[in-house]
Amino acid sequence: MHERCPVCGLKFEREQGYFLGAMYLSYALALVTIVVLALILWMATRWSLQKITIWAILLFLPLTPALTLFSRVLWIYLDWAIDPEVPRPQG
Ligand SMILES: [Zn+2]
Repeated sequence: MHERCPVCGLKFEREQGYFLGAMYLSYALALVTIVVLALILWMATRWSLQKITIWAILLFLPLTPALTLFSRVLWIYLDWAIDPEVPRPQG
């Protein structure tokens, strides 16, 4: 991952531990993804819950790096929507 955006120079990690919030997002996204995978598997195979859970997690693992980056991007958007670095005019 780049330290700054190659296009506009935005510093991605604004402060120490900045991406802690992104970890919560990626945890939530991971749960949703695993549940969706499990549902697809269940509809296709009607396996037992235990077997479906194991396979959903196994299928999810290769997606982890993409999900981590995606949640960081989401986090940056969220953070900038709430707390932009540009000082706002008073009043
Ligand atoms: Zn940029």
